[in-house]
Amino acid sequence: MKTYQVDKNGYYGEFGGAYVPEILHQCVEDLRNTYLEVLESDGFKEEFDRLSRDYVGRPSPLYLARRLSEKYGCKIYLKREDLNHTGAHKINNTIGQILLARRMGKTRIIAETGAGQHGVATATVCALMNMECIVYMGKTDVERQHANVQKMEMLGATVVPVTSGNMTLKDATNEAIRDWCCHPSDTYYIIGSTVGPHPYPDMVARLQSVISEEIKRQLLEKEGRDHPDYLIACVGGGSNAAGTIYHFVDDERVKIVLAEAGGKGIHSGMSAATIQLGKVGIIHGARTLVMQNEDGQIEEPYSVSAGLDYPGIGPIHANLSARRRARVLAIDDDEALEAAFELTRLEGIIPALESAHALGALAKISFEPGEVVVLTVSGRGDKDMNTYINHRLS
Ligand SMILES: *Cc1c(COP(=O)(O)O)cnc(C)c1O
Repeated sequence: MKTYQVDKNGYYGEFGGAYVPEILHQCVEDLRNTYLEVLESDGFKEEFDRLSRDYVGRPSPLYLARRLSEKYGCKIYLKREDLNHTGAHKINNTIGQILLARRMGKTRIIAETGAGQHGVATATVCALMNMECIVYMGKTDVERQHANVQKMEMLGATVVPVTSGNMTLKDATNEAIRDWCCHPSDTYYIIGSTVGPHPYPDMVARLQSVISEEIKRQLLEKEGRDHPDYLIACVGGGSNAAGTIYHFVDDERVKIVLAEAGGKGIHSGMSAATIQLGKVGIIHGARTLVMQNEDGQIEEPYSVSAGLDYPGIGPIHANLSARRRARVLAIDDDEALEAAFELTRLEGIIPALESAHALGALAKISFEPGEVVVLTVSGRGDKDMNTYINHRLS
């Protein structure tokens, strides 16, 4: 059967794989030999399900947004990941990975973070599990995302400002990989999205697949059928989208729309539309689409939304786009900002700026009346209030 899931070598078509330095080969190999067995064990599932329910607050509601539906002439359901503990989908992944780290006998957790959302989700589960936590963060990001730095520190994590390169996410990731190389035996690296060397993209997709598992069940209950006509999600590295589509990706009845960050326009030189602008290359251990210049140097991405400005993209999504399984739309800053205000005024829900990119895709699709659309609201907008208020005043 034709499948869009990972193959046994860790590839999605021509994308994926594990391109890591010699010193990490064993670590990645251990992970690869362990993750499926652990994730599929009864003990892991029981603990993951219990924490998802009692700590995160799952299942997250599937909410029929009536006024938004009326506006776009179809039936729009919102998958409310914004209601999770810590305010986004990222906690699904960090809970799963810390349970795996404990089962592998690791005692020290490291992570990279850009906007600080993954850092907070990691520091949260480290507090919960009483594990040492070191978070690498570009110095520029430390300065502009101060509230998240304070949260991580209150949670007991050590935040290490990284001063190499542009001092942003890419540099923080390089530093985390360097740390992992120095402490391969006791350290577990919690990656925050469907990126990095195999098995990370598949592992993160599986942990986030709780989203589509719930969508299936909830749609059956509300609509009498277990699949929508459309799934829509935003993509930074691709984890909330991967979780949203996981159980539907091989079902061709379901159309998949991915919203990436157009920034100030994809031809403006200030964009994070990696799928449309990227060329095949290697970034953080995976072969995928990368924003790079002629010399193969990574170009700094830009988006008004800090969670979407990653210069790569998960190999899952690179493949879905290359094989035309997913339609990829670039949503500009202004379109996302307008979509955030629209959802707020129509439904009383202030979305994260990242999620607002998924909402911005609605205006670019022509729906048939009665079509069922599920759109994932990956997070809540509290962290973006300054941007929203400045936009309204400008
Ligand atoms: C981090 C983040 C994203 C982008 O990450 P993905 O891995 O692409 O999901 C999207 N939405 C929110 C709210 C985030 O915090």
